[in-house]
Amino acid sequence: MLKKERYQAFVAHFAAKQPDAETELHYNNPFQLLVAVILSAQCTDKRINQVTPALFQRFPNAKALAEVTPDIVFDYIRSVSYPNNKAKHLVGMANMLLHDFNNEVPSDVKELQKMPGVGRKTANVIASVIYNAPAMAVDTHVYRVARRIGLSTGKTPLAVEKDLVKNLPQHTIHIAHHWLILHGRYVCVARSPKCNVCEITNICKYFQQNNKLTKIISEN
Ligand code: SF4
Repeated sequence: MLKKERYQAFVAHFAAKQPDAETELHYNNPFQLLVAVILSAQCTDKRINQVTPALFQRFPNAKALAEVTPDIVFDYIRSVSYPNNKAKHLVGMANMLLHDFNNEVPSDVKELQKMPGVGRKTANVIASVIYNAPAMAVDTHVYRVARRIGLSTGKTPLAVEKDLVKNLPQHTIHIAHHWLILHGRYVCVARSPKCNVCEITNICKYFQQNNKLTKIISEN
């Protein structure tokens, strides 16, 4: 199967199956999404959704968050990974949002990355989820699933990101991020991918290579 055909089949499948795929993080505005995505680094969305209701109630906007010290924020996020660093990042981000960005979450990936706690992946999530920008955030799921299916052979998240952005139709890039994450979270899981229930075995390089191998072994 040609790479182009694989991409076409991938988009056709998920556009039909999950036309409204979206982030599983709970948020009501760009500020809340930025907070949630910063918190979600090395942590599960489920855990983040457990702490954000109280956090957003106490700090409904950047001003409220910028007024306190990180130790106050720490109390609200102690159950997430790296709470010390993340508390510092959130207060720093809120200050920058207020003073450098006129209290508006920027849409530009480079501008976003100026804020504490916002790396390339977080910036891409914000740009694509809030602004539908053709930005691809490559987390562990996107990296693994894109490589297994055969959408990329990139050896780094940046290489995979570039492959996906180059080959996906531009208008699908922001939603393809969610397709890959959700597929990786529920079907193409890290240790034992659930190929027996997967609906894209016909386009999956990993599945086809494994099948070929099983056939050779059983014939010998
Ligand atoms: S066939 Fe298996 S390896 Fe391929 S995408 Fe589906 S679950 Fe993942």
